[in-house]
Amino acid sequence: MIRTRFAPSPTGFLHIGGVRTALYSWAFARKNGGRFVLRIEDTDLERSTPESVRAILDGMHWVGLDYDEGPFYQTHRFDRYKAAIQELIAAGHAYYCYCSKEELETMRARAEAAGEHFVYDRRWRPEAGKTLPEKPADVEPVVRFKMPLEGATTWQDLVKGEITIANAELDDLIIARADGSPTYNFCVVVDDLDMNISHVIRGDDHVNNTPKQINILKALGATLPEYAHLPMILSESGAKMSKRRDAVSVVDYDRQGILPAAMLNYLARLGWGHGDDEFFTMEQFVVWFDLKDVSPASGRFNQEKLLWLNAQHIKAESNDTLAQLIDERLQVRGIARPDSVPLAEIIGLVKERVQDLNALADECLYFYRRSEPSAEEKSKHWDDETYPRMLRFAERLEALPEWNAESIHELFKPFCEAEGIKMGKLGMPLRLLVCGTAKTPSIDAVLALLGREETLRRMRNGI
Ligand code: GLU
Repeated sequence: MIRTRFAPSPTGFLHIGGVRTALYSWAFARKNGGRFVLRIEDTDLERSTPESVRAILDGMHWVGLDYDEGPFYQTHRFDRYKAAIQELIAAGHAYYCYCSKEELETMRARAEAAGEHFVYDRRWRPEAGKTLPEKPADVEPVVRFKMPLEGATTWQDLVKGEITIANAELDDLIIARADGSPTYNFCVVVDDLDMNISHVIRGDDHVNNTPKQINILKALGATLPEYAHLPMILSESGAKMSKRRDAVSVVDYDRQGILPAAMLNYLARLGWGHGDDEFFTMEQFVVWFDLKDVSPASGRFNQEKLLWLNAQHIKAESNDTLAQLIDERLQVRGIARPDSVPLAEIIGLVKERVQDLNALADECLYFYRRSEPSAEEKSKHWDDETYPRMLRFAERLEALPEWNAESIHELFKPFCEAEGIKMGKLGMPLRLLVCGTAKTPSIDAVLALLGREETLRRMRNGI
């Protein structure tokens, strides 16, 4: 049974790199008929906040990555971690260490002075024939894990290939602090074991933790999961993504008017490929996804491509769904959506013109209220003869037996001939007069949707 998990620490917002990790874990489970688990790694009590937990849950909901189990919270599992620590001590895989802070500081300073990597000198590690120091009365002990001293830890990373770390480089890791609380790597291990995780798919900032976790898992008698470490996403300039410069939180993209489907499509493609396919749905992605096609090199974020994909998804999305999505954006723009205006149809008319939902909402605005044309557009399309001509056209519109795009369109040619003008001299000022901008889709379709009454009202009110 394939079981994957997404295990964010709730110490900030939901980062897009995190969303991609979640997406690949999710897709891998879905593709293989497995299960996808959400686990909140909130053991760092000082840095974890309920707001961040909310941001993770909301972010997952926004992109639509559904999980089969969880959310599980590590803070609810402390008893289990403590029991596992006792189990390791009893089996001789872990031991109490009574080193004081000062002793550790001295060891660290000595290593630094010698230009060496600091490793705890294992003075409290029990070994056959070794006499341990006298237990100090005033030090609460930590619990350390007995890492193997010789050999190496190796795994076949499903993205990066074989990775080998010499065991001599692995510290006898602290698994319980002096107050008895379990440490980060230990909780991850117990959870991956208890949750039967078959594939650990996560960011490559965790590569250094993996050999430690593998050794603890072995000591707990676990079957090892497979590991797949994903390279991080870089900013457009190739630097690490920064909170200050880049939009890194998923909600930033919601604000930018990106559709969740486009976000997922973009993130899926950033670091993975299926031939030349750029635009695809999550159904297709799940069918195509394979960890062997994940690139071991970092991908660079590209806003232009995200927007291009967003435009494709807007085109492909149903008008009714888009109408629901931009409802709130219209309200923010001061438009209470009257039922009389058929928003879904308006969207059908304008959606090919935009790349994001904010622009889509803006394109819908003139159906709800006429705005002032800019001086520039006015000077281009308006002169002294224009308004009387517009009023003459209004009369023809008023007399139309049927109000639809075709019958409106049929008025254009004879009217222009009668006036001795080219079509542009009718269409552009008409747009300005009715919509407040010359940048609209075909004006016959716009007027048809706007309705006769509103069209005539706006025309007769003038500019
Ligand atoms: N909690 C870790 C993080 O947020 C992930 C741990 C893991 O996936 O093993 O980066």
